[in-house]
Amino acid sequence: MTQHGEGAVRVRFAPSPTGHLHLGGLRTALFDWLWARKTEGQFILRIEDTDRKRYDADSVTSLMQGLRWLGLEWDEGPDIGGPYASYVQTERREIYQKYAQKLIDRGHAYRCYCTSERLEAMRAEQRRNKRPTGYDRHCRRLADAMRTRREAEGIPSVVRFAVPEAGVTVFTDLLRGDIQVDNRQLRDEVLLKADGLPTYHLAAMVDDFLMNITHILRGEEWLATAPLHKLIYDAFGWEMPVLVHLPVILDPSGKGKMSKRKRTVAGKEYLALAHEFRDAGYLPDAMFNFLVNVGWNFDPDQEVFGREEAIERFCLEDINPSAAALPYEKLDWLNSLYIRALPASELKKALLPFLSRQLQLSEDELETDRKLDILIPVIQERIKRLDEAAEWLDWAYLDADEISYSDPKLLIGRKLNAAQSIEILRVGASLLEEVDPFAAETIHQAFRQKAEALGVKAGGFFGPFRGAITGKKVSPPLFESIEALGRQETLRRIERALRELEG
Ligand code: GLU
Repeated sequence: MTQHGEGAVRVRFAPSPTGHLHLGGLRTALFDWLWARKTEGQFILRIEDTDRKRYDADSVTSLMQGLRWLGLEWDEGPDIGGPYASYVQTERREIYQKYAQKLIDRGHAYRCYCTSERLEAMRAEQRRNKRPTGYDRHCRRLADAMRTRREAEGIPSVVRFAVPEAGVTVFTDLLRGDIQVDNRQLRDEVLLKADGLPTYHLAAMVDDFLMNITHILRGEEWLATAPLHKLIYDAFGWEMPVLVHLPVILDPSGKGKMSKRKRTVAGKEYLALAHEFRDAGYLPDAMFNFLVNVGWNFDPDQEVFGREEAIERFCLEDINPSAAALPYEKLDWLNSLYIRALPASELKKALLPFLSRQLQLSEDELETDRKLDILIPVIQERIKRLDEAAEWLDWAYLDADEISYSDPKLLIGRKLNAAQSIEILRVGASLLEEVDPFAAETIHQAFRQKAEALGVKAGGFFGPFRGAITGKKVSPPLFESIEALGRQETLRRIERALRELEG
């Protein structure tokens, strides 16, 4: 009996809502999405929430936000429904119970009444004897009469899969070919727990079958239990979907698996969760471009590509099965390219939430602020992440007396002394009182001419003004900064700087 083989591709992303969406999960979802879009198939979101101990209610929202942020819209899922609803496993418990019973009826599964004390003692014994731990199949051999008695006594039970005691199981992974496992290495894993909810082994197999899934893309950590999954499929008489175990993503050191938390390696912090990348100011298009190349390669000679190109070229067979380190520096580089490519108005829109949070101003206030229209285009090439913009712009939102001149050198031009810098600031202030229009280009002209007339190098002449108006060593180009600040505020800051120098 098969339910698939012909017809459209159907892939699913099936996260367990036990926490925030991790980069590995995001990459799995991305490959699912690419494959579905390429084949004009369906991408399904299914929530695997049967582990109630690890369940975290907020993570479903967070998972969906992460996928949407990257632009991975699903065709069927818990929030939008679909022909195979429900897409939440706890809402499907009767289905799994029915299928567990089918396996029992066919002799492929059995009820196990062992208490946790007995199982603990069994494991301790196995460890003592230096044997591999695992269920000893005690209840598999229970006589019918014993079973009936336990049922009559109302002893709680789980359902375990009855792995064949001899023989080998062969399954195929698209990237790794045929893999053969001796059945004696497999355990009679629990399919249905005492609370009536299924484990992954039962729920995912039943759902993948019922939902007509054609390709299972999942993390490499599931490779070890794939033989069990093949046996479950066989026991039902179903044909297994194509299995694609995606390579592990290593941290930048290339040594360990990516951690689920932010970590610092060699003094640099690196992120691990989808929302951390969003909050740090990576653009979804840059992240998309970056992640497509983690475990797959668009083209060794082309690092930058768009969604449509990726869809067109993507191919499951070309996924590289070996683990690879995450090239974070590439993400920063890509992000800066994508930032530069944005029209200034879109960059402004993308920056508003960041600036609002970091500068503590409302988005409405910032949206109509003309300083941003002047300054954003000139910092566009200087930021790698959206969260870096505030550092370039914060000075423009301070009052004149809030500017800090903690480093006195800031106010003194290169190769000049304090007296000369005072003189230059005075001369400049009178130019700024007059200049018309009050625009970067005209101010620049006026300053340059004055510097020449005084025989001072432009850099030395401009320096004190940069320090005076921003209080910073690194800041956006001077004349756009002056224009953005406006005549009155610029003069006020120069006044303050003069008092500072004279005092
Ligand atoms: N719920 C499983 C997980 O989060 C899904 C694995 C799969 O895709 O089959 O790891």
